[in-house]
Amino acid sequence: MILAVSIPQPTTIFGSSYRGRFAPSPTGPLHLGSLATALGSWLDARAHQGKWLLRIEDVDVPRSLPGATATILHQLSACGLQWDEEVIYQSQRTPNYESALLQLFQAGLIYPCTCSRQAIVNALAAQGTYPGRHEELIYPRICRPTPIPHALANSEFVNLAHPVAWRIALQSEELNQSIGDFVLRRADGFFTYQMAVVVDDAAQNITHIVRGADLASNTARQIYLQSALGYPTPHYLHLPLVLDQRGDKLSKQTMATAIATDNAQLTLQALQLAAGHLGLTSLPNKDHVTIAEWLLAATQAWREQKI
Ligand code: GLU
Ligand code: ZN
Repeated sequence: MILAVSIPQPTTIFGSSYRGRFAPSPTGPLHLGSLATALGSWLDARAHQGKWLLRIEDVDVPRSLPGATATILHQLSACGLQWDEEVIYQSQRTPNYESALLQLFQAGLIYPCTCSRQAIVNALAAQGTYPGRHEELIYPRICRPTPIPHALANSEFVNLAHPVAWRIALQSEELNQSIGDFVLRRADGFFTYQMAVVVDDAAQNITHIVRGADLASNTARQIYLQSALGYPTPHYLHLPLVLDQRGDKLSKQTMATAIATDNAQLTLQALQLAAGHLGLTSLPNKDHVTIAEWLLAATQAWREQKI
């Protein structure tokens, strides 16, 4: 007699709750540096049998370049870096950021600020602090009221939203010294990267953030904001940056060359270079494998290197 045995399927396989993401700003096509970040986060997700989501960080609409998003999606697809789920666009998520801002307002954690950059520089100078031209300014709390009023009606809060900036009032003296009350919404009405990234990472249930080391200095702000909003804090991994010959970070702003994905050979060449920057060695020779085979070998190499 043949018995039909039904084997119960495990509801969770190893690492299946892993959710990673790649979150490029569409200020230009992918270059070697951004490809290395994309590849590192993709490999980490695949090595954990997790999901890899794609989010277009076009929150700063004036800085986004028309056509850049289409190019990035095309380049990622050509590289075989396929994303799971629907692509999220920050430019379409303003209501989500508004409700997070309102939540912080009602908790008495934010305040409006009308300081110009020059006013902040002057206030810092009065304290004997002279930051460099491109250095971030640690806000000297000129506009911070004590205590922060949160008795305004929601409608009044909405009216107040323009044209003032909204800053978060850091509760720890140490963070006040090192980071300063940072802006969540700018006076021009656009939400900042810090706010958008924290709201979206939570909305997408991101568990693992793998990104470039240039963003490491933002992590403390983001963790602070997560706790203020009651969100969980994901795991962070910061990848080494790809530098140019002068030792500067490759960036779209400095016109780093776009990676070529016109054919499989060129694409594999770009992937191989990106993998080299991630410290992955002994990958198969690109002349003898398909992109899919190469990615499989790279995932295995990543697993052995990182886990
Ligand atoms: N959009 C950011 C960038 O392109 C990355 C955000 C992040 O990974 O947290 O630099
Ligand atoms: Zn101010």
